[in-house]
Amino acid sequence: AKSNGRGRAEIFDQALRLELEARAKLEHDIRTGLASDEFELHYQPVMSVATGKLRSYEALIRWRHPERGMVPPNEFIPTAEESLLICEIGRWVMGRATHQLAEWTRQDPEGHSDVTMAVNISARHLASKSLVDEVRHALHESGLEAGRLVLEITETVLLDEPTADAHLRDLRTLGVTVSLDDFGTGYTSIGQLQKLQVDTLKIDQSFLRSEDPATQALVQLMITAAHAFNLDVVAEGVETQEQLDRLARIGCELAQGYYLGRPKPARDTEITGAHPT
Ligand code: C2E
Ligand code: CA
Ligand code: CA
Ligand code: CA
Repeated sequence: AKSNGRGRAEIFDQALRLELEARAKLEHDIRTGLASDEFELHYQPVMSVATGKLRSYEALIRWRHPERGMVPPNEFIPTAEESLLICEIGRWVMGRATHQLAEWTRQDPEGHSDVTMAVNISARHLASKSLVDEVRHALHESGLEAGRLVLEITETVLLDEPTADAHLRDLRTLGVTVSLDDFGTGYTSIGQLQKLQVDTLKIDQSFLRSEDPATQALVQLMITAAHAFNLDVVAEGVETQEQLDRLARIGCELAQGYYLGRPKPARDTEITGAHPT
């Protein structure tokens, strides 16, 4: 039994070592990928439910890996979140996305001057003391007004995190919009919404998928509560006209999803204006 236990311990050590090596390699590859321009952003529109008018874009990161091809964020963001790498990624995303919106606005001032750009910010980055300066820097470099940048954060960040809360306060004082992503999947209750330093709720895609009447009643309740607290609401994951109709009926003003537009690289994003004068 003794030698057996040692054998198992060795296997465990080896598995751990392999995992650590794999993680170190991924971190190394992300770092070189950032330096050699392997990442890109895809932009997905957020539309007004009632008018179909473009309201915002969400910037979603993609990795054009030299060997693995297009790597989705779920395959590298979680690892990046375990180190300060996620802050480097966040800085890169903010810089690129704000420049892109400034560029679209130059090309089509009429169609874009009210449009905002949303970027995803991870918990660790929100807690970092340089975030507020980095946001200021990105706005300054791109020439974008603060009101046109939206930071999407997930609710896990918010509870019992005094630094994150202080940073959110500073960001909102700057005039940046804060959006609570994946709402309904975490621990925030409707009653806590009032205390949170956010301007917008994004209702998680899973709620839209469900045909269950109780779930739909819950969505209705979230929207009513959000409005009572003066929050905007975005429904995520709209894939059909029926879902869009339902959102209109229950008074959800903003929507995002494949039915309204898939995430696309900047070069494939139609600039609605650019009409010859
Ligand atoms: P998220 O922030 O909740 O982003 C929405 C995800 O849903 C995106 O997946 C988007 O492509 C997908 N989606 C949009 N509409 C639909 C729809 O109608 N149906 C379905 N099935 N999916 C839809 P994506 O781009 O793979 O991103 C996954 C997650 O990775 C994001 O979830 C976000 O948590 C994270 N992520 C993406 N880009 C970044 C980034 O730049 N920084 C950080 N920190 N996280 C990012
Ligand atoms: Ca998001
Ligand atoms: Ca989401
Ligand atoms: Ca998510």
